[in-house]
Amino acid sequence: MVQEQSGTIPPVRVLLVERDARAAMLIGELLRAAWREGLVLVHAEHLDDASQELLDHGASCVLLGLWGLELEPLEHVRVAAPDVPIVVLSDDPTQEEGLRAISAGAQDYLLRSELGPGALRRAVSFAIERKRSEGELAHRALHDPLTGLPNRALFLDRLGVALDRARRTEAAVAVLFLDVDNFKQVNDSLGHAAGDRLLIVLADRLKEMLRPMDTVARFGGDEFTFLFEELAGEREAVLIAERIGQTVRRPITLNEREVEVTVSIGIALVSEPSVLPDSVIRDADAAMYRAKELGRARFELYDEASRRRAMERLELEGALRHALERSELRVHYQPRVSLNGETGLVGFEALLRWQHPQRGLIAPGEFIEIAEETGMIVAIGEYVLEQALSDVARWRQSRPGMTISVNLSRRQLEDAGLASRLASTIRASGADPGVLCLEITESTVQHDPELAGRMLGALKTIGVSLAIDDFGTGYSSLARLRQLPVDTLKLDRSFVGALGSEPEAAAVLGAVVELGHALGLSVVAEGVETDLQLAQLRELGCDGAQGFLFSGPVPEEEVHALLGYGSR
Ligand code: C2E
Ligand code: MG
Ligand code: MG
Repeated sequence: MVQEQSGTIPPVRVLLVERDARAAMLIGELLRAAWREGLVLVHAEHLDDASQELLDHGASCVLLGLWGLELEPLEHVRVAAPDVPIVVLSDDPTQEEGLRAISAGAQDYLLRSELGPGALRRAVSFAIERKRSEGELAHRALHDPLTGLPNRALFLDRLGVALDRARRTEAAVAVLFLDVDNFKQVNDSLGHAAGDRLLIVLADRLKEMLRPMDTVARFGGDEFTFLFEELAGEREAVLIAERIGQTVRRPITLNEREVEVTVSIGIALVSEPSVLPDSVIRDADAAMYRAKELGRARFELYDEASRRRAMERLELEGALRHALERSELRVHYQPRVSLNGETGLVGFEALLRWQHPQRGLIAPGEFIEIAEETGMIVAIGEYVLEQALSDVARWRQSRPGMTISVNLSRRQLEDAGLASRLASTIRASGADPGVLCLEITESTVQHDPELAGRMLGALKTIGVSLAIDDFGTGYSSLARLRQLPVDTLKLDRSFVGALGSEPEAAAVLGAVVELGHALGLSVVAEGVETDLQLAQLRELGCDGAQGFLFSGPVPEEEVHALLGYGSR
């Protein structure tokens, strides 16, 4: 090997692979003439030497002399150094060899008959630049620009390879699906730049805790996926998930605020390597979803039970799509009584039921969420409103004071056209808007307080009254509630349930009632089941109550009997 050096840093390091000594000498001269300085030229006579040199020192570019139409040397160099650009020297005047070399992975070729300093310099520089941009494009196509992690395409590819390998070695493969809890809140409250920053910090931490052979990818939005091969089994997967949870939890400073992040993780262990990558991901995703349902900040394993649950959910979703048109949805009504003065019926809350052809009556807890996620809630909500308004109009003929409460879901509140559509629905029903009270849960308000404030303001101008439902299940401050144009606070039934069993429950309830009154709100207790609870609520100053003690939700036919309901 010959090595020569001259000039400044960083030099271009050219490895000339040429078995003909005279040709090598000539090309060396031309290269030196082309560069004058900044060139390191290394000559290898044989392919094996070339490989060794590439391994030891690398190169900016390989100039590879071909003799005859065999491309095997090219393949040899490419395998030895896949990232190094190659310029092929060919003596095939038809150019066929050169073109074949390019389709086989060379970046450029030169005919020996046309060699000169200019041509060499151009070819080498061009090959280096071309290889660099090829690499950049390939990287960009397979990586997430924000975090630099592999993207979904690369992850699926690696998972496919891992499954192939597992078929041969029977090693266990696990996929973890991670979703950041309440990421939208970070984005909404601290801004998108902070959201991005959070993802970058998480990506760095996750990368750091992995072994080189593991993969973590940004699957989309705030979702990350992990691929682990050769795991000992379920236990190890669980330990990793726990470690991920802890790593993520370390405080992160965003906009000078310390934020603590939790994640929900789904684990899918591949027991049958013949499965497709997509279905492994789907399993892990389903398990993650369950972790969310069970309260977030946790992980869940995918197993037969969750597979079944996922299937049932899909079935329910399909059936719900037809429930409206097949008139399977019913509105039931639960009375609300006033505790101010004489206990008496003042109105009803509309509560949705689904008369399922096979499963019988299904409570909203089982399907409202599906309706929300699929957007069906908009049409369903409209139906409930129309039904409730027309029913209450009839009741008011015998009991003029009756009001009706209807629950609004988060999705409905996010619908910008809600207020104007509601106004026309009320107008069409001929009812006085004051008859209608809309209930929005505390968690809906909390999810996006600004949006909630805006939408509630718009609803208020129609003339309906507004209630915060399930109050006490979230952690919203009463100070914030004061800024909302609401009239009523409906205390979650856990407050009432605690009465009699927890000694401080009455004091807490009393304080909340007092605060509610201080804010000018009327306070209604939900879930009143015993006379004792009723007596305590009255003593604490509650304005209204609802619960099985009076009546559960009943179908419209039974409301008439309740309308005769006087005092208790
Ligand atoms: P919610 O608005 O807080 O309704 C009160 C829930 O408590 C009802 O459950 C009612 O049956 C139940 N309940 C009433 N009194 C008692 C009691 O004394 N003890 C106990 N343990 N429970 C009592 P339901 O009907 O299953 O409704 C559940 C939730 O589904 C509702 O909670 C509401 O958030 C939602 N929902 C119901 N109908 C609709 C609707 O038309 N639209 C929307 N968006 N959500 C609805
Ligand atoms: Mg309600
Ligand atoms: Mg409630």
